[in-house]
Amino acid sequence: MLEQLKKETLEANLELVRRGLVLYTFGNASGIDRASGLVVIKPSGVDYDVLKSDDMVVTNLDGEIVQGKLRPSSDLKTHLALYKAFPGIGAVVHTHSEHATAWAQAGRDIPALGTTHADYFHGPVPCTRELTDDEVNGDYVLNTATAIIERFDGIDPIAVPAALVAGHAPFAWGKNPHDAAHNAVVLEAVAKMAFMTVLLNSQCGVSKTLLDRHYFRKHGASATYGQK
Ligand SMILES: [Zn+2]
Repeated sequence: MLEQLKKETLEANLELVRRGLVLYTFGNASGIDRASGLVVIKPSGVDYDVLKSDDMVVTNLDGEIVQGKLRPSSDLKTHLALYKAFPGIGAVVHTHSEHATAWAQAGRDIPALGTTHADYFHGPVPCTRELTDDEVNGDYVLNTATAIIERFDGIDPIAVPAALVAGHAPFAWGKNPHDAAHNAVVLEAVAKMAFMTVLLNSQCGVSKTLLDRHYFRKHGASATYGQK
């Protein structure tokens, strides 16, 4: 069942390790098959060294396990809620990558400060509000997604494929697991650059014109970047 998506999801999880975005078993990636509404996600707490395609857990959008012997990632409910709220996305990745997490812990959006950011994110990467005590004590994993979705009111999740959860860490997404992992890796690079940039000059920023030029160079109908 969904063998290709399992392979792609495993590969996305391993890519996060290769790029230094996750320590130990922190972090998780999932992918969705929109035709069947089934989600493939990393199992909870299994070492990446021994993680296999067959270990991936298949669930439906209600979180019921359809296939797999292991327990799904503890962040499953966040992934599922993002799939429901953002119908254009095909994969979700969560890491505690250091620089993006620093911005999340500071409760700050990552401002668009240059073209590296603008190539991937059409505007700041938004940070959620803090969860209330009731939200933390309640359905915490689901409420994490609710805070992200609330923050994206008026923001296109395809144009800004990542969010920071205040006091926690980033989530990124994309059209497939490879794309979501790629966005998470770029997010960490952009977060690191922004951190250093703001230290050097807290008043900096990129113009809307330059932001638009770089974003639309790579995205949309008139993109010119790369090969046809
Ligand atoms: Zn986390």
